[in-house]
Amino acid sequence: MRRREFLKMATVCGGAAAWPAALFFAEPFAWAADDVVEGGPIVFNQAGYLPDAAKLFTLRLSSPSSPSSSSVTFSVRPVNGGAVVLSGKPSAVREDAASGDRVQVCDLSSVRAAGHYVLETDAGGAGTKKSAPFEIGKDVYRRALWLTMRSYYGQRCGCSVDLGDGYAHPACHLDAAFHASSGKSGPYKNHGGWHDAGDYGRYVVNSGISTGTLLWTWEMLNGAVRKIDLKIPESGGKIPDFLAEIKWNLDWMLSLQDVDGGVWHKQTSENFCAFIMPQDDHMTSYVIGTGAAPFKSTCATADLAAVAAIAARCYGPYDDAYAKKCADAARQALAWASKNPNVTFENPAGVRTGGYGDDDCRDELLWAAAELWRTTGDEEYRKALEVGIGYLRADGGLKIKTPGWSDLSAMALWTYVMAERKSASSELVAQIREASVHAAEELVRNSRENGYGNTMALGDYVWGSNGVAGNQSLQLIVTDRLQKNEGFRAAAAENLHYLLGRNCWDLSWVTQVGRNACMHPHHRPSGADGIAAPWPGLLSGGPNAHPADPAAKGMTPGPPMKMYRDVEAAYSMNEIAINWNAPLVFLLAGVNEG
Ligand SMILES: [Zn+2]
Repeated sequence: MRRREFLKMATVCGGAAAWPAALFFAEPFAWAADDVVEGGPIVFNQAGYLPDAAKLFTLRLSSPSSPSSSSVTFSVRPVNGGAVVLSGKPSAVREDAASGDRVQVCDLSSVRAAGHYVLETDAGGAGTKKSAPFEIGKDVYRRALWLTMRSYYGQRCGCSVDLGDGYAHPACHLDAAFHASSGKSGPYKNHGGWHDAGDYGRYVVNSGISTGTLLWTWEMLNGAVRKIDLKIPESGGKIPDFLAEIKWNLDWMLSLQDVDGGVWHKQTSENFCAFIMPQDDHMTSYVIGTGAAPFKSTCATADLAAVAAIAARCYGPYDDAYAKKCADAARQALAWASKNPNVTFENPAGVRTGGYGDDDCRDELLWAAAELWRTTGDEEYRKALEVGIGYLRADGGLKIKTPGWSDLSAMALWTYVMAERKSASSELVAQIREASVHAAEELVRNSRENGYGNTMALGDYVWGSNGVAGNQSLQLIVTDRLQKNEGFRAAAAENLHYLLGRNCWDLSWVTQVGRNACMHPHHRPSGADGIAAPWPGLLSGGPNAHPADPAAKGMTPGPPMKMYRDVEAAYSMNEIAINWNAPLVFLLAGVNEG
């Protein structure tokens, strides 16, 4: 995945306006002919709505000369005919800054009976507009949760994979070795992990937030995932499927820990391969380090510490020895990272895969300390966190930032509260609660102001903005746990509606979910397998206000939600990634749990 380089270059160049020409390099991308066109006039969550949930549909007015809001009425009726179950008037017309669209909102929340419906609008002589059918029911998100979590099985490296319907491949990338940059040499008999994104690399830093988020799903939203049957090779074993799938990646992360406790940054080939199936990529999969002593990187090591600490809690009831192994790995990793607090990573010479270079590892160290304290109760970790958060107060009060692969400070702070240990500072717990509520209230405001209901500010339409929406939902659901507020949960659900169709494209960004779903993600197996539909359950990165890929050529800059193309070459707008799917799994578990 390339976005790491982009971020670094954007910083160097002083902003998004100065695109380095080198980013637009030629590759054997297959260009899709049927790019998406702007969506239909009535958009909503194509997977449907829960009976008691808010149901806000957006009417897209085609032009400034569209009928005025005062003359429009709407009605809802069962799809197979029958009496109108709701009629009303949409909201006033508003100009939506994120999309540039003129929109109105229809509130269908009072329709609660399970069934399939259509929405019609009547503009008094200007014709009738009719929506596609939509469903209301208590199980409307179960398939989406199943597919999005099962997509991790599809991303597995080092074993044969078979999702059914032809989505399959034999074992891949078994030829592994230490790269010279790792401080070691020779072959390395490890395999496993998840392919990170549209490429076949495996990166500890991005695995960190992805695996951590999924383990948090297990801990916080257990009712929705405890019994999920993923139909994976481990199904029926002593470990529940949800944890068994995560263990596939966790084991690989643990295999990148050196005997001194440090963790190598990534395992990839030296270059991205072409758009081929994974078993056809015969480049050596190298364990790659920083190129100079101590060879391992701080962020990767602290990420492993945090994730292994959570894992020790999650796997304990099923496999005591494994839980102990995870706890030991976490302790050793944090000890190494504390001794080496600022070993950052850049690609060594000759390596051109994703960097996930992060210049600031303080938040990863905080997260590791918080999770280890929650798991073990050892006060050294609490003290390390309480001292370490000082930099978060630099601008005054404590700030909560939406989590992302390069900033995990919020996950550290929330863990401090969720640990519910007696030695916690009640003053600090109160500060974290207050800051979290303040940040969540801002997201709720964003949702109300956005014509399509998502919680993003205009500046959030970055590379992987759909992942930002997912993480903002995680933020809202966690904050609701810290301080009960139904409005936070409702805003979190609005992002789900946005991702699954209530957007200016009338598009579900999750492959094979919804009537009109993303078809051409930047994902090598989807491009190379000869099957028209992409692999299921994958979330596209989505709109990017500053795209930087071959598909961006010729795009006219516009409102940020409009900066999207459903084409394979659009890696800055349409790639998939394990760290974007993970908060979506969390969100889907949250809505399924109710
Ligand atoms: Zn592989």
